[in-house]
Amino acid sequence: MSWETVIGVEVHVQLKTERKLFCGCAVTFGDRPNAHVCPTCLGLPGALPAVNPDAVKLAVRTALSLDCTVHERSVWARKNYVYPDLPKGYQITQFEAPIATDGRLEFDTDAGPRQTRIRRIHMEEDAGKLVHDRVPDASVVDLNRAGTPLVEIVTDPDLHSAEDVRACLTELKRVLEFMRVSDCNMEEGSLRADANVSLRPMGSTELGTKTEIKNVNSFSGIEKAIHLEVDRQREVLDRGDRVSSATLLWDDHRGSLRVMRSKEESHDYRYFPDPDLPVLVVSRSAIEEARDALPERPRELRDRLRDQYGLSSYDAGVLAHRSETAAYFEAVVGSGGEAKAVANWVMGPVQALLNSDGRDIEEIGVAPTRLAELIGLVVDGTVSDGNARRVLNQMESDVRTPAEIVEAEGFQQVRDEGALAEWVSAVLSEHGEEVDRYRAGETKILGFLVGKVMRQSGGRADPRLVNDALKSALER
Ligand code: ADP
Ligand code: ZN
Ligand code: MG
Repeated sequence: MSWETVIGVEVHVQLKTERKLFCGCAVTFGDRPNAHVCPTCLGLPGALPAVNPDAVKLAVRTALSLDCTVHERSVWARKNYVYPDLPKGYQITQFEAPIATDGRLEFDTDAGPRQTRIRRIHMEEDAGKLVHDRVPDASVVDLNRAGTPLVEIVTDPDLHSAEDVRACLTELKRVLEFMRVSDCNMEEGSLRADANVSLRPMGSTELGTKTEIKNVNSFSGIEKAIHLEVDRQREVLDRGDRVSSATLLWDDHRGSLRVMRSKEESHDYRYFPDPDLPVLVVSRSAIEEARDALPERPRELRDRLRDQYGLSSYDAGVLAHRSETAAYFEAVVGSGGEAKAVANWVMGPVQALLNSDGRDIEEIGVAPTRLAELIGLVVDGTVSDGNARRVLNQMESDVRTPAEIVEAEGFQQVRDEGALAEWVSAVLSEHGEEVDRYRAGETKILGFLVGKVMRQSGGRADPRLVNDALKSALER
């Protein structure tokens, strides 16, 4: 029997607000334990929650970016369970009436474009953290994170492989970064994904019994965990057994899954509307305002760059990978750079400069106008590509204009026929063997000779002219 893999993911995203969801405590990471707590997030009797409107705004923006329907009325619910990182004994979340439903996300895989439906997005508060390595022989509780605003994004079971999941989550993370709703830092836990995995006979439309993989904090970990679980379920089914519903924990160190608990059902949590909080109302006009102000999404940006600047889809995709890169590209073009040349420079030399010390483009010390000027000097033939790269590497620590640097370093491209002829004849007399080979028909040796002449000129000769001069000398 051949089996089809079916996967739906649930992604928790920490919203980038200054304050917690229901109190005025600061949201921070890595601070002294329990430095940011108050009666509300400690769950002390009598303390009342009040919703942070910033969090609602970010949730609405998230929902719109995923083409969801945002509901004017949604309901806070209590999810009851006992755990030391949850002082109230319940988590405030949304259950029957979430803030948004029915969205979708498109993403690219090696096998082509795909999409998944987004079933729902609800808002909720995060729990605290148990710390196991701070006090010998004891676990202690840090409640700084308790009450941090989250959205949980739940997809339909539309994904069919570990690779699909990775591509989907990668695109989701990119969308959220473009929306500036979250840091999406997986190591710090601001983006956490659970994967629900089942198999069914190929061709069947019924869903099989699923297991849920939790506690994965990297995309590669998720991919590995899913591969493992799919193999395990296939073995179970192949020998005629049933998969039993369970929650599995991923152990990143050992690269293995273990059963955390057999799957709980929603009725175990005794959800009920939170009596301390009124219905969450987001007005139609607030939703429309948010829609009008929605930042460009990654795929929209890519398509716009392609269409507006006549770039290839590939180049547009590379530039749109991060909104900051695209913004820099557009600023250089806006300062007069020719689009295709600017694209090549941003993807090539500029990226190489940043890679050399692991910086992001927003940390570059070359203003867009100065890069545009440098590229202009290449396009009009004043300086060769190679020497322009040397100028670029100097520009961050040099206040002179690119033209001044070119001039001072003697980088101007030489097109003087006399100078070219001298370099050419010097090279030809030194490389008699190659000249003979060229004349015997081995014409691809020309490239070697062009390189020698370029070297002879200190990189200043115009390569096209060198090419022509060499050819005519060799064919004399
Ligand atoms: P539960 O009630 O067990 O939490 P839900 O219906 O709420 O399940 O779905 C939770 C997540 O699991 C969603 O992302 C959904 O797409 C996915 N899912 C549900 N059923 C299956 C299944 N049989 N196989 C794979 N994923 C599933
Ligand atoms: Zn608080
Ligand atoms: Mg669920």
